[in-house]
Amino acid sequence: MTLILDQVSKKFADVQAVQRINLKLPKGEIFGIVGANGAGKTTTFRMILGLIEPSEGKITWEGNQFKNVVSSKIGYLPEERGLYPKLKVKDQLIYLGRLRGMKRQEVVRQVRYWLDRFNVPEFYTKKPESLSKGNQQKIQFIAAVMHRPELLILDEPFSGLDPLNVALLKNAVVDLKNSGTSILFSSHRMEHVEELCEHISILHRGQQVVHGSLKEVKRDFGKLNVTVHAD
Ligand code: ATP
Repeated sequence: MTLILDQVSKKFADVQAVQRINLKLPKGEIFGIVGANGAGKTTTFRMILGLIEPSEGKITWEGNQFKNVVSSKIGYLPEERGLYPKLKVKDQLIYLGRLRGMKRQEVVRQVRYWLDRFNVPEFYTKKPESLSKGNQQKIQFIAAVMHRPELLILDEPFSGLDPLNVALLKNAVVDLKNSGTSILFSSHRMEHVEELCEHISILHRGQQVVHGSLKEVKRDFGKLNVTVHAD
């Protein structure tokens, strides 16, 4: 399944949030979008997810209009993190999984697998309000991947995490990719993207200033006068 964005733009009143973005994400690859605050990363993801309509351009997945793709095939880690603070981790993930059509047993299996992998099996019965921000982020990551989506969209997944947790999540991302998941993620930081992605796009004030393979982007990036380290 290849995700294609063809000359996609979004204008909010007089703000040109995204301007003529092109992107191609083949199955089992990782595509990174780098940009500072306000560059247009979240707007791009929201258009892909069908939460907002592009003002211009076309988004397709294997030739079909992307908005017709069922949500069980997509996983999304939004930039605004949010869990039910008082609902135990297991209960909210079972609730979410059931909404996506998963069997309860399968959710439990997946959640236990991921909690073990993140070295926090005891979180199963914890309430998010008792967890740190970084640990809540792990739970949201599990919520995004537990149904084994074909396309995974991660909006700044590493922001606010300590190096150990960044490494855990990066490992998970690489394993998902190796099992065939197509992954699109954003970051303020070039180094995260460099390490994980085959293809990269650098957004600056809504414009795709550089895009291509890692090699091409590294070659062209040095010539640019843009700042992507905003955090
Ligand atoms: P950040 O890292 O801060 O999340 P971003 O790269 O994700 O930045 P976007 O959130 O996509 O950037 O915002 C791009 C531009 O579009 C910004 O100027 C923002 O203020 C504007 N924008 C985004 N959503 C809306 C909206 N619903 N209405 C008006 N303007 C918007």
